[in-house]
Amino acid sequence: TPTLPVFSLAGRTAIVTGGAQGIGEAIVTGLRDSGARVFICDINDEAGETTAERLGVEFVAADVTDSAAVEAAFDHVVSTAGRIDIAVNNAGIVHNHPSESLSDHDWRKVLAVNLDGVFHCCRAAGSRMLAQGGGSIVNTGSMSGHISNFPQPQAAYNAAKAGVIHLTKSLAGEWSGRGVRVNSVSPGYVGTELTQRGMDNEEWRRAWLAGTPMNRVATPAEIAPAVVFLASDAAAFCTGTDLVVDGGYTVW
Ligand code: NAD
Repeated sequence: TPTLPVFSLAGRTAIVTGGAQGIGEAIVTGLRDSGARVFICDINDEAGETTAERLGVEFVAADVTDSAAVEAAFDHVVSTAGRIDIAVNNAGIVHNHPSESLSDHDWRKVLAVNLDGVFHCCRAAGSRMLAQGGGSIVNTGSMSGHISNFPQPQAAYNAAKAGVIHLTKSLAGEWSGRGVRVNSVSPGYVGTELTQRGMDNEEWRRAWLAGTPMNRVATPAEIAPAVVFLASDAAAFCTGTDLVVDGGYTVW
């Protein structure tokens, strides 16, 4: 299929955290189809291995909350492939609980995966990319970094995602002059395991769809192209940007 050459990722090596399923899996597929050599990085070894085999890509295990494990995973990619050009920091979890009784443990857990984890991966990617003279980092934010969701309570998630978007801008300011672009993609509601519980709840589902001008949730495949774009040379002048892909949720 003919494609504008700037969208090609031929010769590039990529890592996608949370790539075993859902949005991450679709991103892995998109990067692969655009020509990249892709490593899935996930805490779930079994799903990670199975998905990697099915998609014809590689797998490396890591829990993104463990910075030493993240460093080891990036070392593995660089020692196997020789370089790391694209890092998609996508692993995330959600926890729904009223804030007045949210435990320290649950607050910390969400921040540990969704914000600390993204920083660990950005630092591991950025240090290696700066040393090699360039690279592109794409973090998965969320519309929840811009609005607070209704009706489900999820303050820790929303705060972490706002943090991801501003961390992205901060790192873009530090690194873009040295060849490393840092951007984020912020999805609206996407049909994955993460949102299944909400879609099964009639009140939540109704509110989610009513709040979305397109009146539906996205498929993971509708999020992946935005990531491929920001990862590629097509986005050569984009850095610190947050690309919202939300079916219009944030317009209301
Ligand atoms: P998902 O639950 O389907 O997949 C998440 C993946 O991350 C899983 O493979 C899981 O094993 C992995 N993971 C979880 N904790 C990890 C850890 N500590 N270390 C490494 N891997 C870990 O979720 P999804 O819907 O595909 O979400 C992917 C990203 O998109 C998340 O950051 C999420 O917050 C974000 N997002 C999702 C939606 C949505 O509606 N689904 C909307 C906006 C943003």
